[in-house]
Amino acid sequence: MSKPEANAASHDASAESRIPFNRPSMVGNEAVYMMDAVRLGHAAGDGAYTRKCRMLLEEALSLSAALLTTSCTHALELAAILLNISPGDEVIVPSFTFVSTANAFVLRGAKPVFADIREDTLNMDETALEALVTANTRAVVPVHYAGIGCEMDEICRIAAAHSVPVVEDNAHGLFGKYRGRYLGTFGELATLSFHETKNFSCGEGGALLINDQQYVNRAEIVREKGTNRSAFFRGAVDKYTWVDIGSSYPPSDILAAYLLAQLEARDAVLAARRRVWETYHEQLSSWAKAFGAKQPTVPAHCESSYHMYHLVLPTARDRDALIEHLRRRNILAVFHYVPLHLSPMGLQLGGQPGQCPVAESISERLVRLPFFNSLLYHDQMRVIDAVVSFSR
Ligand SMILES: *Cc1c(COP(=O)(O)O)cnc(C)c1O
Repeated sequence: MSKPEANAASHDASAESRIPFNRPSMVGNEAVYMMDAVRLGHAAGDGAYTRKCRMLLEEALSLSAALLTTSCTHALELAAILLNISPGDEVIVPSFTFVSTANAFVLRGAKPVFADIREDTLNMDETALEALVTANTRAVVPVHYAGIGCEMDEICRIAAAHSVPVVEDNAHGLFGKYRGRYLGTFGELATLSFHETKNFSCGEGGALLINDQQYVNRAEIVREKGTNRSAFFRGAVDKYTWVDIGSSYPPSDILAAYLLAQLEARDAVLAARRRVWETYHEQLSSWAKAFGAKQPTVPAHCESSYHMYHLVLPTARDRDALIEHLRRRNILAVFHYVPLHLSPMGLQLGGQPGQCPVAESISERLVRLPFFNSLLYHDQMRVIDAVVSFSR
């Protein structure tokens, strides 16, 4: 590169610096705890730091058990094994979600039955649930989109009436609440994600939350390669051996050490995210009204975990143009999800265009703005100024 070009490229770099969609950050004792985990000489799973994470989650959320896993995807797979999901079974999932919500059950041979979402919270439409239940339904898997609770009273009532267990995919919603109660404590089982894009992270990680004691022993076995190793280490059996099907789901204790620091800083993390969320919400409201864009809805009985900030634009064309408008200002905004029933795999599993009209329409019009704990006010104002300068 010649010198003048280099100068041109660095011109006004502060105003032009790239604002990413997500940036993971350390929030406390991550480095100290990781070094300690290495020093303790137990880098495999289920060491001291895994136990501390488990205790913290079990106490904070009042759970029967919180078992760390290598991902939310693996926690969902573990849930599918615990519920004995097998070929011919049906599992009800929202179409508007990440692949793993459905795929974990499809791996066991289940047919996903796709539910549409509500226009306001973008959560599974509980009024459509009853009609999707059949004699083959074996689980209902609501997703608390963006960390705002699904209508759990109604979802749990319908599931219980049909004796179908509920598995909450709570990848977004750790420490969010519905009617004063933590998300992840309503279903027999629930899952968390500690992927780097989530509120609390260790790079890649997850957890299975258990609210029904009857699943705890078997969950420990399935998580430990189908062995009773966990009971052995507690001294409950005198040798450990192969007793069930299973796989290898515990993360390294070094990752648990990183995670513990994040979980311990939960109040600061939630406060930082709340500030970012509220700044977007206030500062974008006049523009949104004038443009006809929809800001997120948080029902009065829900407390958000502030996982993301999204806007729903009037048309797909507006959405694509806004993303491009931001990209030209070096701001990365993104969309999601391709409705699962219209994905190549979903179509193969019987998905039909038109089956979930709200999910189909929202998916084309939704944009997510840069959102992370360490987003500086100055940078956030650049995003806000860029959005409010957008017009057709
Ligand atoms: C991120 C996410 C997952 C998957 O989490 P991993 O930890 O990456 O496996 C599952 N469901 C939802 C709703 C997610 O957002």
